[in-house]
Amino acid sequence: MLMYVSTRGGTAGLSAAEAIQAGIAKDGGLFVPKDLPQISCEILQDLIHANYQERALKILQVFLPDYSQAELIDCIQTAYGGGKFDCQEVAPLVAVGDGKYVLELWHGPTSAFKDMALQLLPRLLSKALTKTRVSNHIVILVATSGDTGKAALEGFKDVPQTRIIVFYPYQGVSEIQRLQMVSQKGNNVSVVAVKGNFDDAQTGVKSIFNQSAFNAELDRQGYQLSSANSINWGRLVPQIVYYFSAYADMVQGGYQTMGQPVNFVVPTGNFGNILAGYYAKRMGLPIHRLICASNSNNVLTDFLHTGVYDRRRDFFKTISPSMDILISSNLERLLYHITEQNAKQVAEWMEQLMKTGTFSIGSRYSSVLSGIFWADWVSDSQTMETIKETHETYGYVVDPHTAVAWRVHDRYKQQTEDKLPGIIVSTASPFKFNSSVLQSIQDAADLSEQNEISLLQAVSRVSGLKVPKALAELEHAPIRHRTVCAKEEMEAVVRKILAVKE
Ligand SMILES: *Cc1c(COP(=O)(O)O)cnc(C)c1O
Repeated sequence: MLMYVSTRGGTAGLSAAEAIQAGIAKDGGLFVPKDLPQISCEILQDLIHANYQERALKILQVFLPDYSQAELIDCIQTAYGGGKFDCQEVAPLVAVGDGKYVLELWHGPTSAFKDMALQLLPRLLSKALTKTRVSNHIVILVATSGDTGKAALEGFKDVPQTRIIVFYPYQGVSEIQRLQMVSQKGNNVSVVAVKGNFDDAQTGVKSIFNQSAFNAELDRQGYQLSSANSINWGRLVPQIVYYFSAYADMVQGGYQTMGQPVNFVVPTGNFGNILAGYYAKRMGLPIHRLICASNSNNVLTDFLHTGVYDRRRDFFKTISPSMDILISSNLERLLYHITEQNAKQVAEWMEQLMKTGTFSIGSRYSSVLSGIFWADWVSDSQTMETIKETHETYGYVVDPHTAVAWRVHDRYKQQTEDKLPGIIVSTASPFKFNSSVLQSIQDAADLSEQNEISLLQAVSRVSGLKVPKALAELEHAPIRHRTVCAKEEMEAVVRKILAVKE
């Protein structure tokens, strides 16, 4: 049976349910499958005429052998079925022309790609609790700068044996993001504004995780804290599915013949998305290159070019904020696999990174990476230019994250003359980043006077797409969450929400 081990060697032989329930390994490492499973040509062939849910079942079965088929089907149906996504295909592939294909990962309930994973993770976790006989309720604490919080709320809403509390910076998120969160429905959800910025909220959450007395007390009262961030294996594994699904759609659409390679271009932050592509490639999916696209926080571009990871650099706030990251936590998993499971080496690098802010993998491993990845980065002004050009040339409107990937793909084609089809992984709906999109397309338009709802309508006009239902409804959605707290009060708020006495 496929087992999970820690990237730092300290934990071995966990089942998938145990790894998902634990989240992070005791030695601080991340859980990875001990052996990388292979997908046969027959299974790949079977995927072509299957729907997304059936494709998900085939892939998840490989990684989660301790879940029964009935359990997986139940998780998959509640995550991706029942009209939760605004299109049948769940993750449609759009042929835009000139060898470019867009994998749209934003048709879920919050119009962001985080839905792909955060719709499934809570259900896998809930089943894991039953399977590992944990009777505590899991309390998910999230500090969010906007998108992750909403996607986590939607994912955990009313999932048995879980509660979720989201902290967002008071006056520090967009109006749409705020409305999305404060109107959140569900019996196990709480949303709290923290008077401070995102870092204050995040520091507050981290300190709650580290209060051992408080955690022991929670445990006595039947609660266990956990996080929904992208280091949990249960958040990574759903992402492998859409690489297979996109390839199956390429074959089904007649854009590529079975067995012939394609490239994927991925707008990257925490390295979760592109790592899922790496797993797909290692499993035998015909991927030639994984192209890693960054914004001016280009720590990964430099790493993939030189083998030196160096986070000691300025941090930029860009118009593709979900990629404004200097520590890509999922990279650790890649390092484990490219060193052929050398946990000792990985632990050393991670320690160097923590102590000095940098580490170097050396030329041997660096050249292994060059054979798999290609990387580049794009400035904000070029991102806006690309949004404008794709609209003018193809009549296709992209959000800033997708535009970064688009531009990097253009450069890749120019510099390598590789003619293989390129699949641009599109991570956000243009509606979610409406003002950047409109500023790019309508030169110098004065948007400051408009409210967020009218901006949605403006994006609808330029793109010809309907405003996503959940966003359109925000204007009149009842407010359900009004708690505001000081940053020092976050623990007290958690106590109050869970009715845990002092
Ligand atoms: C989270 C996110 C990313 C980055 O994905 P990673 O898995 O962290 O690399 C890119 N684009 C959008 C819109 C996101 O929300």
